[in-house]
Order: sequence, then C-alpha cells, then structure tokens
Amino acid sequence: MTGGDGAPEGHARRAYLAEHLDAVRSRLADACRAAGRGVDEVTLLPVTKFFPASDVAILRDLGCHEFGESREQDAAPKVIALRESAGDDVRWHMIGHVQRNKARAVARWAHEVHSVDSLRLVDALQRGVERARGDGERTDDLAVYVQVSLDGDTHRGGVDRAELDPVTDAVAQASGLRLAGLMAVPPLESDADAAFADLAGLHQRLLRSYPTATGLSAGMTGDLEEAVRHGSTCVRVGTAILGPRPVTSP
Ligand SMILES: *Cc1c(COP(=O)(O)O)cnc(C)c1O
Repeated sequence: MTGGDGAPEGHARRAYLAEHLDAVRSRLADACRAAGRGVDEVTLLPVTKFFPASDVAILRDLGCHEFGESREQDAAPKVIALRESAGDDVRWHMIGHVQRNKARAVARWAHEVHSVDSLRLVDALQRGVERARGDGERTDDLAVYVQVSLDGDTHRGGVDRAELDPVTDAVAQASGLRLAGLMAVPPLESDADAAFADLAGLHQRLLRSYPTATGLSAGMTGDLEEAVRHGSTCVRVGTAILGPRPVTSP
C-alpha cells in the first residue's frame, strides 16, 4: 500500500500528485498576489509524513526540493532512500515535535527544524549537530524555527509566549544552530486570521532583536491564505498535495 487512503498508485499516483501540486502552486500564487507579495517570498513545503519515499521522488521530479516530515523514525529511511536516488538535491525540514532522545538523530538529516520549543531541546540539538559534524555527517548550521503556542496550551507543542525570549536567545547563542524565525499552528477552534495576526506581532518583536530571523513558518492546507496575508514565508502543505493521510495519523 502506498499513497494513503483512496489515492491511486503508480502512473496514476504521479498524475494525482502533479495535478494537486499544480493546484496548490496556483493557490499560493493567488494568495501572494492578493496579499501584495511576490510569489518567491513564500516557500511551498510539501509535508510527506505518512507517505512513501516514492511520493517524495515523484514530487522531486515535479520540481520540489524541500520536504517536511513530522516523525524522526519515519523520516530517516526516506532521507536515505532519496539520498540514494537523488543525491544531495533534497533538503529536509523536521516540522513535528522532537523528543529530546531523538534530537541527535534529527541533527543528522534535518536541514531545518520548525518545532523547537524548549531550552532542553535547544541544548540537545546543539550537541546533536556537534556530533554530526564530528562524524562528518553535516557541515552546515541547523536552521531553527522556535514554535510558539499562541494559546498557551503547550501540550499541542510550542513554547508559551512568556518563555519565548529565553528560547530564541538560546538558539541565537548556540553554536551550530541558526535562528531562522518563528513557527506556529493556530489553536484548535481559533480564527486563523486572528491567530496569524498575533503570530506576526510576535515575529515583528523578534525581528527587533534578531533582524536576520526573517522566517515565519505558518499556514497549512486549510489556512495558507490567511498565513500568507500575515507574512508567512513558508507554508507547510500535506493534504492538499498528497491527499488524505491514513486514519492512524495524529
Ligand atoms: C501535518 C502537518 C502539516 C500539514 O498539514 P495539512 O493540513 O495536511 O496541510 C503542517 N504542519 C505541521 C506541523 C504538521 O504536523
């Protein structure tokens, strides 16, 4: 079984992904135009969690070079599969919660992490990058978005806004990490427009201290237009490109 619920396989899968990727690209272009922003200001990050490496390979052929994954143990084999078929042509973003005991593994394959939400995780990732460098597995810095919890319900991931500064400061000071910016997922039942406006305010504040932290990872299948309106630089889109995820997904 490849491709998730009801999604066709083989050549049909290729046609499915091509059609849906095109549709999302035009949706994103429309959103940028409506917001008075350039299309090249916003990166489209296909989220391939729960879908096989063969889907990543198809999307790569269709011109995607960055992919989002949410679980270390699912991502690592795909990273290896793509490295064998595509070389170093693909960059990987970890967008899901990182358990501290997975930080070392994530530091081996991720180019960017969107979901850093504690001082302890900053520390673990820094040590992971140092070790990966020592082993010759990476040379670049790990780009880090600090995930903020907009409603303070940190069980869903993200650092409470009251704790944001210490975490962003720690990332900025850590060797091997580069503070890319902020990430958030709108709270359940919230108005996406209001949530992203709130996030944009926090980002403006961050930029006063860290002018190079220009990244704002915001927007998914259901709310990318609202996110682009409020300054998103990276939309993380799964369902609209790959189809519905298997029912076991969190
Ligand atoms: C799964 C996931 C996405 C993609 O969600 P869709 O609604 O399928 O586009 C985006 N961001 C995070 C953090 C995710 O876990």
